[in-house]
Amino acid sequence: DPELSDEFQLLLAWADQERKLGVRANADNPEDAKKAFEFGAGGVGLCRTEHMFMDLKRIPIVQKMILAENYPERMEALEELLPMQQSDFEGIFEAMQGFPVTIRLLDPPLHEFMPDKEELLVDVTKLQILDPGSAELKKKEQLLKKVRQLDEYNPMLGHRGCRLGMIYPEIYEMQAKAIFYAAAKLAEKGMEVQPEIMIPLVGHVNELKQMRQLVIDAAVRVQEETGKRIEYTVGTMIEIPRAALTADQIAEEADFFSFGTNDLTQTTFGYSRDDAEGKFLQAYIENKVLPENPFAVLDQEGVGKLVETGVKLGRTAKPSLKTGICGEHGGEKSSIDFCYRTGLDYVSCSPYRVPLARLAAAQATIRHEQKKEEVYTTA
Ligand code: PEP
Ligand code: MG
Repeated sequence: DPELSDEFQLLLAWADQERKLGVRANADNPEDAKKAFEFGAGGVGLCRTEHMFMDLKRIPIVQKMILAENYPERMEALEELLPMQQSDFEGIFEAMQGFPVTIRLLDPPLHEFMPDKEELLVDVTKLQILDPGSAELKKKEQLLKKVRQLDEYNPMLGHRGCRLGMIYPEIYEMQAKAIFYAAAKLAEKGMEVQPEIMIPLVGHVNELKQMRQLVIDAAVRVQEETGKRIEYTVGTMIEIPRAALTADQIAEEADFFSFGTNDLTQTTFGYSRDDAEGKFLQAYIENKVLPENPFAVLDQEGVGKLVETGVKLGRTAKPSLKTGICGEHGGEKSSIDFCYRTGLDYVSCSPYRVPLARLAAAQATIRHEQKKEEVYTTA
């Protein structure tokens, strides 16, 4: 419940005066965005767009797009999705009342939108016996064929993130247009909007270069159509070690970096984020191989070094670069302290963690500024 006591509100207001680190929230829908706003978030640091596609009414359209044999078929499905995406974004922009909203273009592998392979196989086998030659069987067989084509050994290291946008640019184009139509519509109503478009899983500057151009082209087209000038920025997630190590090149194409420390932890340790916790991580922690779960508490010695490198290289190439973090660590106390020390501009966390993050950000300032003062007074 977003109700906070008066005393706590007062404490938070005081914390806000002290803190230097911005606090945003991860929100994928208008309800979460409203909660985030009520809890005092200064923007949305990560709007994941995949859940919008999972809606029961939309999944058949998404599957139609994935199954499409050719470009016109795919475009037909995408055109159906566009107005739905537009209203998703309008809702989130409205809820954030002019604060910046970072929208991340589609990230997960496409198989996540398809039926389960095993279940499909059972269905197909049954139909082959009970109803051979039926249209239903044909449809399921076609689905199964596609699901098999989409199968990957390591989907989290596979065809996801900007790799999708590179191969199916029309998906990202639809999303970018939906964002700009939403922004234009609200601007028409006199509302302020600050869209920030974020490209996921970039590992090479050329990926960002191409996807950024695609976004710019979409903006130009929507501006021509609507006659509305839209202010926006384009940035990237830094969640692959190579992106952190080549952040100077990447910064040339980015207005902002957001460190995706969930994936960055996965790729730095080489731990599958979907498996490690259930397999060996608990034993590692119990046996003191690791001090704590790196997916919950940022590993400052390894993952943190990549964040520091990314910030340093990025800012050297582009001093105006905005930097934030939007992995789970953005809502964890000691990780927030690390973000302060590394000089990030903001952290982004779940809406319910926003109050805690505001306090932790203030604590970081007090802790480290006081230390500095002590050094000055003893010197
Ligand atoms: C991340 O990788 O840290 C991140 C925020 O993105 P996601 O968890 O959606 O992969
Ligand atoms: Mg990620």
